[in-house]
Amino acid sequence: MKVSLCNCTLAAVIGALTGLLVTPTLQAQPAPEVTLTRLDCGNLPTPIAAEEFSDTYAYHGLQVPFTFSCYLIRHGSDYMIWDSGNPAGSAPGAPKVSLLELLGQLKLRPDQIKYLGISHYHHDHIGQASSFPKSTLLIGKRDWDEVSAAEPPRGVDPATVALWRASFAPWISGGGKVEALTGDKDVFDDGTVVMLNTPGHTPGHHSLLVRLKRMGNVLLTGDLAHLRETYESNGVPAWNFNRADTLASLDRFKQIAKNLRATVIIQHDARDVGKLPVFPNSAD
Ligand SMILES: [Zn+2]
Repeated sequence: MKVSLCNCTLAAVIGALTGLLVTPTLQAQPAPEVTLTRLDCGNLPTPIAAEEFSDTYAYHGLQVPFTFSCYLIRHGSDYMIWDSGNPAGSAPGAPKVSLLELLGQLKLRPDQIKYLGISHYHHDHIGQASSFPKSTLLIGKRDWDEVSAAEPPRGVDPATVALWRASFAPWISGGGKVEALTGDKDVFDDGTVVMLNTPGHTPGHHSLLVRLKRMGNVLLTGDLAHLRETYESNGVPAWNFNRADTLASLDRFKQIAKNLRATVIIQHDARDVGKLPVFPNSAD
């Protein structure tokens, strides 16, 4: 009886102390609001042959409208850009309005962009990267190792090497901060925005998971798939870096989509543009 009384008292004291310590912390940590905005990064003037994205002679005769998508993610008072598209200009596929001008319409300056996340090193995803020299660059390590190599990687044409060096100059030679990712990256350390390691299209390719309160979970493909048809039937372009890795990444991505009941947005497929609100509106 004596022992029991003693234990009850001790438990009550510990409970009271724990309550005192924990309650204020819980009250002080509201979850930051997360929003997702699509930024137009160009469009091809005519539809593209889907057959280009298959190494199995699939999709013969199918023509699909092709777009270039960039995204702005707001996490509380922090901002991230996902992919930087083609450079603005008059070339086919180039956006008429630059990312900086689009951000200006949202009253945002480039130095407010904390993170620049790049799905992979192809020209249509890195074209305006150098507009954000103060941002921390998040990119797959195996892509970064190629674009930042002192000696150009074997087989890469000089024009591509020149584009890499110009696009990534703020981080290669300008002292900008880089996180070269060897796996997934939980960008804000709370699971709301995660770069998913999905190699295959390029060695360090990543896709992006954004978890929104109202819209729910959204998965941005990067170039894991380019079109709805290739996503559905695991089409792999002949020019991908690694076919087996692409298929493994598609398998992982589709399981995540299923388990999280996510909205999948294929960044290059113009038919997926309408899955998000029209700029300047955002999903939340
Ligand atoms: Zn692309």
